[in-house]
Amino acid sequence: MSAVSSPGSETADIVIIGGGVIGSAIAYFITANPAFQGRLVVIERDPAYSSNSTPRSAGGIRQQFSTEENIKIGLFGRDFVRNAQEHLQVEGDAPHVNFRENGYLYLANDRSRDTLIELAEMQRGLGADVQFMENTELAKRYPDLNYDDLAGGTLGLSGEGWVDPYALMIAFRKKAISQGAVYIAESVTGIARSGNRLDAVTTDQGRRVSAGTFINAAGPQAGMVAALCDVDLPVRPRKREILVFECRRDFSHYPLTISPSGLFFRPEGAHFITGISPKDDEPDPDTEDIEINQAPYEERIWPMLAERMPPFEEIKFTTGWAGLYEVNTLDHNGIVGFHDEVENFVFANGFSGHGIQQSPAVGRAISELLLTGAFQTIDLTRLGYARIRNGDPIKERNVT
Ligand SMILES: Cc1cc2nc3c(=O)[nH]c(=O)nc-3n(C[C@H](O)[C@H](O)[C@H](O)COP(=O)(O)OP(=O)(O)OC[C@H]3O[C@@H](n4cnc5c(N)ncnc54)[C@H](O)[C@@H]3O)c2cc1C
Repeated sequence: MSAVSSPGSETADIVIIGGGVIGSAIAYFITANPAFQGRLVVIERDPAYSSNSTPRSAGGIRQQFSTEENIKIGLFGRDFVRNAQEHLQVEGDAPHVNFRENGYLYLANDRSRDTLIELAEMQRGLGADVQFMENTELAKRYPDLNYDDLAGGTLGLSGEGWVDPYALMIAFRKKAISQGAVYIAESVTGIARSGNRLDAVTTDQGRRVSAGTFINAAGPQAGMVAALCDVDLPVRPRKREILVFECRRDFSHYPLTISPSGLFFRPEGAHFITGISPKDDEPDPDTEDIEINQAPYEERIWPMLAERMPPFEEIKFTTGWAGLYEVNTLDHNGIVGFHDEVENFVFANGFSGHGIQQSPAVGRAISELLLTGAFQTIDLTRLGYARIRNGDPIKERNVT
């Protein structure tokens, strides 16, 4: 009987652990830059992408954030997905990421009204097409919402909406491969470290890949990957559920609407999708479980939907799914850049529910950092690991 041969040892310049939308966006931007002439390897354990976050997301694209960094990241994401066909086509084959610019509508109550007005001004100042509207103006566009408890809302008039997240991820991946990136379908199970440098990753198939730089793009598993080399990263897998429902009337022009309660809903083809994140005082355990327990969730959500939009009294839930957020437990914002001690370990983690829309800007930022030594277009220094070390959260008011 012959022995099964192991893949052995190899070298690369850059190893990316995880080939979801973030890892693939980074691979795309690095290999697109003529300054990079090296070998880039992406190690992705599941090429079928059956359980990772990206295809399970709602694909939302917005600029309605409260920090300058996140707004600028959102603006670049908007421009990139608008032109994804051009950026990501391979030999004339253009991807369809289906950017639907129906807008995001953040509904205000008396408590949140002033904040939303202030944020809309800031977002507009940076170039976002966001406007605060009173109930009467909103009702002209969206007459079927219940405005009784509302005090207006902010609407993205253009540049906000949603994409097909799976299509975006695959488009990044295909383009990166066409530019020379190598994807390996194995799981990283070990990371060899000597003092303040990483030497190599090892995989479940016995492969060892040594490299100059290692990038953690392992999504909800990023904390576990960092632990392989004794680095503490507060990124945890947390379950989020989405329900799909049918409604007899056609509301396909409605935006992604977010109630003051945090409940969101948006059209999806002939259907709607909806969900809600747990409040700060509700349990939100770490888990790898992505089974949805639909019935109790329907029971809880349906009255909230019907109250916000009376025609939803007659909806029929059809299906649903769950996925994992990669929650940065410090502040729910991305962690982007080098570790402060392990000098060749880079993070692109913790996007906590907004990694699809942030993937283009994060991919570009990491490529700038690696190829020029600094952020060039958007200064993401504040998103770096130092704030994790110092326990110094960034206060972003529009993330959950
Ligand atoms: C229900 C839901 C709704 C969401 N809605 C939105 C939204 O509207 N807008 C938005 O912008 N974002 C949204 N998100 C968040 C978004 O999906 C994530 O932020 C984004 O997909 C993160 O991308 P990623 O590449 O980091 O993670 P992933 O897509 O999970 O990719 C990480 C990859 O790493 C691989 N990996 C992990 N460990 C290893 C290992 N040891 N070895 C090799 N490979 C490994 C995994 O197989 C995986 O493919 C939502 C998420 C969920 C769950």
